[in-house]
Amino acid sequence: MNKNIEPKVTLLGAGPGDPDLLTLKGVKALQTADVVLYDALTNEALLDHAPAQAIKVYVGKRSGEHSHSQDAINQLMIDYALNYGHVVRLKGGDPFVFGRGYEELDFAASYNVPVTVIPGISSSIGVPGLQQIPVTHRGLSESFWVITGTTTNGEISEDIYQAANSKATVVILMGLKQLSKIVEVFKVAGKQQLPAAVVQNGSTATEKLVISTVENIVAKVKEEGIQAPALLIFGEVVSLHPSFKNVIAQYAAIS
Ligand code: SAH
Repeated sequence: MNKNIEPKVTLLGAGPGDPDLLTLKGVKALQTADVVLYDALTNEALLDHAPAQAIKVYVGKRSGEHSHSQDAINQLMIDYALNYGHVVRLKGGDPFVFGRGYEELDFAASYNVPVTVIPGISSSIGVPGLQQIPVTHRGLSESFWVITGTTTNGEISEDIYQAANSKATVVILMGLKQLSKIVEVFKVAGKQQLPAAVVQNGSTATEKLVISTVENIVAKVKEEGIQAPALLIFGEVVSLHPSFKNVIAQYAAIS
C-alpha cells in the first residue's frame, strides 16, 4: 500500500434513475472520487461528476453479461481503496434497500477501511411518488411494506402473505417475474378489486405505468409489454392516480 494513500469507501445511493435525483452530498462525494464502482441500475451520467482521471468500473450483475459476484465486488472495492484512496460505491436507489450495502460496509470494516454512507432516493418510495401515488395517505393507508418478490430460495416471501392480509400499501421490488404468483396471494386474501400498479423504469425516459386492479393487472402488464426493472404497488393509494378513474369506468361499461 502506498503511504500517501488514505483508503476510504463511500456507499452512495444513486436514486431511481434520473441523474438529477442524486443528493448534493452524493455529487460532492463523486467530485472527490479516485475510483467509482457502479451498478447496472445507476445512470452513467452520474459518472460525469467524478474527476476525468478517476477510474470508473462497471460491476453490475445484468443478466447475460459478464457478471461480478458479490465477493468479487467486495474484494475489488478494497483493492481499489488500498491502492487509490477514495472509492465511491455507487448503487441504485438507496444502498440499504435490497442493495446488499451492509455486506460491503462490513467487508470494508474488516479491513479497517472507513466507510461513509450517503442515502439515496429508494425506488420503493420515489417511483410511486413520481407518479403522484403516495405510499401513505390519511384514511387510506397507515403503513407501507417494501418486500422482495424474489427471495434467495426462489419462493415468494412469507411477508407477502402477511402484507396481503393487511391494509398496508405493499410495494414489491424484483417481483415482475413472480407477478402471477403474487397476484394469487392477493386473490386468496379476497383482494380482487384492490387497486394495483406496475411501474417500469421509473424516473427515466423509458418509464411505463400500468394501473389496474389485482384481478386484471397480469393481463394489462402483458398487454403493455412491461420489462424489468419494474416495481409493483398494491393498495388503496393507487386509486388516487387520475387514470384509476378509467379503470373504474371500464368496469362500469362491462357490467
Ligand atoms: N436499492 C434499490 C433497489 C435494488 S433492488 C432501491 O432502493 O431502489 C432492484 C429492484 O428495484 C428492481 O428489480 C426493481 O424492482 C426496483 N427498481 C429499481 N429502480 C427502479 C426504477 N427506476 N423503476 C422501477 N423499479 C425500480
